[in-house]
Amino acid sequence: MTVASDLLERPSQVSSPLVRFEGVGKTFRNGTKALVGLDVGIGAGEFVSLLGPSGCGKSTALRLLAGLGRPSSGRIAWSEPPDRHDIGFVFQEPTLMPWASVARNVHLPLKLQGLRYRASMPRVEEALEMVGLEGFAASYPRELSGGMKMRVSIARALVTQPRILLMDEPFAALDEITRSRLNGDLLHLWTERRFTTVFVTHSVYESVFLSSRILVMAARPGRIVADLPVDAPFPRDEAFRMSESYNRHCRAVSAALRRAMEQ
Ligand code: ADP
Repeated sequence: MTVASDLLERPSQVSSPLVRFEGVGKTFRNGTKALVGLDVGIGAGEFVSLLGPSGCGKSTALRLLAGLGRPSSGRIAWSEPPDRHDIGFVFQEPTLMPWASVARNVHLPLKLQGLRYRASMPRVEEALEMVGLEGFAASYPRELSGGMKMRVSIARALVTQPRILLMDEPFAALDEITRSRLNGDLLHLWTERRFTTVFVTHSVYESVFLSSRILVMAARPGRIVADLPVDAPFPRDEAFRMSESYNRHCRAVSAALRRAMEQ
């Protein structure tokens, strides 16, 4: 298989997407065109990365998907209108309540749905187990490392069993080893559960390791310039990081990113 055939820059069509950006533009009040003409669908079960330089509108696109802000033009079309608990959001900072235990932090979205703590414990414990934090329910955020806090944040996002998980550079503030371990664990979880994921990053390596598809974005104005499938099979592990296939994908995605930054 050649690079050209498995990394075609193809139009962004998914036959029956979970959600579609339809001609979405976002211009802020100060005149900044954060996004123009976004036309892309995200299929159920995909792991899609938004990759691009700082300022190309990745976070803006993610926030629009989360319903935090409205497009200035076009629309975001869902296959079924989402409720708040259908969307899980993980920020770059874990944003935990320091005065509350790990379990209370993870319970929060359920509490907002009116579900009591006691009755929620099985779901909270299941979410903690998913991120490898069984046994830490009674701990407090100050007792946890940066990576563990991020795991709590992911558990909190998944506890409502969202239809889509939105992650905004969740591992950018972590050291390299922790980041790589969390990448591996997140992917393992996704491979088992296949929750649709949209992941913002500016790391080519991270996006290739994790994604089934990468949307490369360019800035000024923010837009999608390439739609690249990463057709390496799942599950992926450390052996994938050492493989020729991984290297080949990284080279192709880097080239697309370079072109995006020259535009
Ligand atoms: P990225 O996530 O790719 O770094 P952002 O989506 O954060 O990019 O920002 C895209 C552009 O929109 C940038 O030029 C940024 O400065 C601008 N921007 C983001 N949020 C606002 C805002 N609330 N008001 C004005 N400009 C904004």
